[in-house]
Amino acid sequence: MRVGQGYDSHRFERSRPLVLGGVRISDENGLSGHSDGDAVVHAIIDALLGATGLGSIGGRFPDTDPEWEGADSLDLLERTMRWVEERNYQVVNVDVTVIAERPRIAPHAAAMSEVLSRYLHISPVSVSIKGKSNEGMGWIGRSEGLAVSAVALLDQIGDIDALHASIRAGG
Ligand code: MG
Repeated sequence: MRVGQGYDSHRFERSRPLVLGGVRISDENGLSGHSDGDAVVHAIIDALLGATGLGSIGGRFPDTDPEWEGADSLDLLERTMRWVEERNYQVVNVDVTVIAERPRIAPHAAAMSEVLSRYLHISPVSVSIKGKSNEGMGWIGRSEGLAVSAVALLDQIGDIDALHASIRAGG
């Protein structure tokens, strides 16, 4: 078993859509960033990379590389999962805290878990998404941006092909 943790923060940018955990929450008041600014997915990617010793999102998907300009963060998660599974790891569970004054996370948490679980190849109940306000304090309190903290637990397995066969068989 290996544990990894990830952290990300992004500034709000009025003219961009807000995408969190792969779910489009609104057409405006999104997050700045080279990709779509999905800080939930970015924190999960860093947790996965940390658990497997594969470095960091900044090293793997540099924001100086035009390939990732406007990238769908779920595509980055898909690539990350390919690297994780190539090393015979499977995700056990992921736990995420979004620290923000807005939007409220609870109404979107189930949808995020559902989307993310498909990429992480686990059940939605193993993808926990929680929201926390910052009680009005500091830059988060002033709604200048939001922060995300994530942990991921991974299990190394013997034979990834056998695992995939058992998943296909409903095991
Ligand atoms: Mg980021």
